[in-house]
Amino acid sequence: MHNSIPLKAAEVIVNTPVDRSFTYSIPEGLELSPGMRVKVNFAGRNIIGYVISLHNDFPENVEIKDILEVVDNESIFDKRLVDLARYTADSYLSSTGEALSKALPSGISTSIRPRAKREMPFTGEDINLTKHQEMVYNAITSSDKKAHLIFGITGSGKTEIYMKLALDVLSKGKSVIYLVPEIGLSSQIYERLYRVFGKKLVLYHSHLTANQRYKNWLSFYKGEASIAVGTRSSVFMQCPNPGLIIVDEEQDASYKEHSSPRYNARRIAFYRAMKEDALLVLGSATPSIETLYATENGSIMLHRLEERYGNRPLSEIEIVKINSGRDEISSRLKLYTKQAVEKGMQAIYLLNRRGFSPVVLCEDCGKVVECPHCSIGMTYHKNGFLLCHYCSYAADMPQRCEDCSSESIKAIGAGTQRIEDIVQKEFPDLRLFRLDQDSARKKNTVDDLIKMMGNNEVDILIGTQMISKGFDFKGVTVSGIIMADIGLHMPDFRASEKIFALLVQVAGRSGRGEHRGRVIIQTLNENHPVFEFIKKQDYWSFYRSELKLRKILNYPPFSRLARLVIRGTVVEKVIEVSEKLSSQLDVALAKSGYAIEKLGPAEAPLAKIGGNFRYHIILKGSSLNDLTSLIKQSLLKIRPGKVYIEVDIDPVEML
Ligand code: ADP
Ligand code: ZN
Ligand code: ZN
Repeated sequence: MHNSIPLKAAEVIVNTPVDRSFTYSIPEGLELSPGMRVKVNFAGRNIIGYVISLHNDFPENVEIKDILEVVDNESIFDKRLVDLARYTADSYLSSTGEALSKALPSGISTSIRPRAKREMPFTGEDINLTKHQEMVYNAITSSDKKAHLIFGITGSGKTEIYMKLALDVLSKGKSVIYLVPEIGLSSQIYERLYRVFGKKLVLYHSHLTANQRYKNWLSFYKGEASIAVGTRSSVFMQCPNPGLIIVDEEQDASYKEHSSPRYNARRIAFYRAMKEDALLVLGSATPSIETLYATENGSIMLHRLEERYGNRPLSEIEIVKINSGRDEISSRLKLYTKQAVEKGMQAIYLLNRRGFSPVVLCEDCGKVVECPHCSIGMTYHKNGFLLCHYCSYAADMPQRCEDCSSESIKAIGAGTQRIEDIVQKEFPDLRLFRLDQDSARKKNTVDDLIKMMGNNEVDILIGTQMISKGFDFKGVTVSGIIMADIGLHMPDFRASEKIFALLVQVAGRSGRGEHRGRVIIQTLNENHPVFEFIKKQDYWSFYRSELKLRKILNYPPFSRLARLVIRGTVVEKVIEVSEKLSSQLDVALAKSGYAIEKLGPAEAPLAKIGGNFRYHIILKGSSLNDLTSLIKQSLLKIRPGKVYIEVDIDPVEML
């Protein structure tokens, strides 16, 4: 297409905190259209920019630079993505450029030689829903509501309903985005979906190479592929006509991004579905309190599935008290494991702590060996080194105590590596597989696991929360939670909610086949109220009781939170900026009359990470708009220098 007057200027958004677009001139001979990435010089640096429009209105009295280079040879996004990025930026207080850089793939177009892949059958499988699944499906498709929650117990067939809805949407020529929380999970779901959707399916997550991501992005953008399954950033994937966005395990914390903009993919999905007129389907066995609450006020329609497929009973849950450091594996768990394996079945053990020992200390004076860069203890790893799980600083085991020079330094407590050793000693003939961040670093670990579990080449799977999500292993009849207390006493108002979800997830991994599952939850404190609800797997009653607490404390869903983390390498500066920010907030608050409560500034529970001292301020208010505008106004008045202020809207981590 040729314009009669050639357009000579491009409006470019750059990946910097400055939230506006800039005009660059298009050099002669450069082929450019909106939706392409370019290289431009910005404030002395050559960086990536995103072209949002072409025009001929050169602003006056400013020097206009040339575009240096075009990155893409075709458009990879359009206006709808710019709108979504703008929404993300406004909601989470970043710039549109930062949001675009999170949304778009970073790779470039190259010819990718297809790697030899495991054979995957496309069977064109049909979906036959059960009566209950059909009822939910009908309720969703016949409703004029756009947003739905399937609150269904584990193994009730939520995935089958998603697939059926997806088939409908594809048959109307529209596209489907299917969000899953973890990369590990996406490869098993990928296989399941591939059988049904074949080559229409693309995968999108951070374990793909940048260029593979780019290729998959582009094929979805052009509508060559029409169903995309992936982790949180897939919520930005563009397609000709989105018909359905699925957010599986919608409560999962991994939908939250950790750097600016700290978006929650669930919220972006909600906005996008409404804006682009697509159906939104959230699913979970333990929905977030916020989402369940939203079903009560009618903004999301609730659907319940209360039985497992094939009328399989839910696993029976037993709470077993253990003593710290002695009976890591209780006799009941040993017994059930033995019985299961004798029948050719499998067990999974969850311990939400990687490494060998979580604590290294001096036996004489009790001094804990801490990371020099973080206010956190070092974890002992099997090959004899210490690792900081926050900043990855590694060190040798110290010879002497820093404080008293004693040589009795000891690693105590158990992480997944030690549990693996203990279990192997207990059951020398059984075949173990350990899945945690350390073992998953090797390529194909998860694919190997899926294959080996399926072929019954593993008797006990040991792992961190990575093993809890979504896996569908038919042979597992025993789930053991080695230490349910981890995380329960965190300074986090969602601690019980998170533990409940985790335990239900793990429990849900067992008994998915012919045989009933058993779950052993080991704890130091069997009287904690959350276990009563867990034992009955009664999430609804838990929700009711949790709601009362939240109401009293005015926590979400009765309020919205924002957290400001002030960090820097010089603690005095951090404190100074925290106080300045705090008084600016007070001033703006007094002027505005917003109903917002301010807590802090106070030292963050993790007072130092990676050499940065951390303070935080927490804001609680009923209106999100008020919260963001208050923060915006106050930040404008602050010159933080070398101190950095992180803004987190709807935080899920309070550490
Ligand atoms: P959820 O997503 O709720 O945990 P799944 O969709 O994974 O449940 O279903 C659990 C198991 O039951 C899976 O192995 C699935 O194949 C099987 N299943 C569920 N519904 C059906 C159905 N309608 N037809 C065939 N198999 C089903
Ligand atoms: Zn000592
Ligand atoms: Zn550290």
